[in-house]
Amino acid sequence: MAKLTSRAEDYSKWYNELVVKADLAENSGVRGCMIIKPYGYAIWEKMRDEMDKKFKETGHENAYFPIFIPKSLFEAEEKNAEGFAKECAVVTHYRLKTDPNNPKKLIVDPEAKLEEELIVRPTSEAIIWNTYKNWIQSYRDLPILINQWANVVRWEMRTRLFLRTAEFLWQEGHTAHATKEEAIVETETMLDVYANFAENFMAIPVIRGIKTASERFAGADETYCIEALMQDGKALQAGTSHFLGQNFGKAFDVKFTNREGKIEHAWGTSWGTSTRLIGALIMTHSDDLGLILPPTLAPIQVVIVPIFKGEEQLQQVSEVAFEIQRKLKEKGISVKYDNRTENKPGWKFAEYELKGVPIRIAIGARDLENRTVEIARRDNLTKETQPLENIEVYIENLLKTIQEDIYKKALNYRDEHITEVNSYEEFKKVLDEKGGFISAHWDGTDEEEEQIKNETKATIRCIPLDNKMEEGVSLLTGKPSTQRVIFAKSY
Ligand code: AMP
Repeated sequence: MAKLTSRAEDYSKWYNELVVKADLAENSGVRGCMIIKPYGYAIWEKMRDEMDKKFKETGHENAYFPIFIPKSLFEAEEKNAEGFAKECAVVTHYRLKTDPNNPKKLIVDPEAKLEEELIVRPTSEAIIWNTYKNWIQSYRDLPILINQWANVVRWEMRTRLFLRTAEFLWQEGHTAHATKEEAIVETETMLDVYANFAENFMAIPVIRGIKTASERFAGADETYCIEALMQDGKALQAGTSHFLGQNFGKAFDVKFTNREGKIEHAWGTSWGTSTRLIGALIMTHSDDLGLILPPTLAPIQVVIVPIFKGEEQLQQVSEVAFEIQRKLKEKGISVKYDNRTENKPGWKFAEYELKGVPIRIAIGARDLENRTVEIARRDNLTKETQPLENIEVYIENLLKTIQEDIYKKALNYRDEHITEVNSYEEFKKVLDEKGGFISAHWDGTDEEEEQIKNETKATIRCIPLDNKMEEGVSLLTGKPSTQRVIFAKSY
């Protein structure tokens, strides 16, 4: 098996190779669209199941809305329409016919032109709020707390597997409320759900914050986000939760009678996370040998590899292996016994390292004698010999330890890469030499943000929610500022 390009050599190449070699996904014939392979999809399923559980625990239900949005509906909320217009795929016809000049070819039938063009959803606020209009009459109909699991299409120009694709899988929550306060609580609650999911389940530390006006979701009054830091010092937006105010309520005329008997427009939120999170997972934890997966997300948590000479030894080892497999399965641990004879143990070790299986158990003739097994951790590459007795308890605890250690390692890296700077010179130096999150004062204007972006490619990732107030002067204009914001180059 050819080695991966190392991260130090070419981070971007390392990433692309890893995604393909670890069998997560591949590029398709359609530019910007990817094929998610079974191993990658198994990880997505685990993420989806866990998030889905958290959404339901916080009172949400799943539903499904159409992939096509009539253009007139799409236009209704102007800012949203304007923001997404340049990334929209549009359906104009509904039929093909045989080319009169070449019977082997099909052409678009000019007679099958749609009366109204259909937009392939880049996000579903328009179609959903147009539906909510019929569902909401009184405050008793509120709140509506709906989530949808779907694909969306954004015609992105620069695409990368998982991180930015033209079609991606995601979930989008769309809620309607009777009061502003309730909608804000919902926006913040879902941000918390995302942050806890990223940290506790994916072992990815995140900064919770608010976007500046220029980075806000088109059509939102406020965008909350979680921002993660990748190992190359670049930031990645890992999830967003939007407070929509009454913007969609007004655009789609969603009115209700409130408790005082007055007619009011409904308040809204929307929130989303996508398959981009798999990119975040890879770039946060993995190394030059391959994937490192937190046990919670690993499709295979433990692999058992037999070390043997001849059929008889294989049989003896297999007896022990099947017994361990049975005990681990009883504990709900996913375990694979790889007794294929066509590949050598060394080949298998490399394969499971590449795939990020958290624990490898090797059993050989000497282990049989001593009633032991060899346990190797994927995350820190350590090996140890452990007694066979109660091995399932040992493994169960080790999986928990690995989960915690992976998180701690990522957290240390992240914390070491938050640098406070107090001048533009320092800012540029840190950005060039160290990267990561840079905490600095900003004058609160679009102009300063824009100029810094043009000159350095760094953007304001967020205004952290747990910010302390602090007097300072902004980087470029020297105007007074009351708090620091987080800058970084980002994906
Ligand atoms: P938004 O609706 O723009 O707030 O995006 C919702 C979520 O989808 C965010 O977590 C984004 O990081 C993610 N996302 C946005 N565009 C893409 C894309 N082209 N590919 C993958 N994920 C995306």
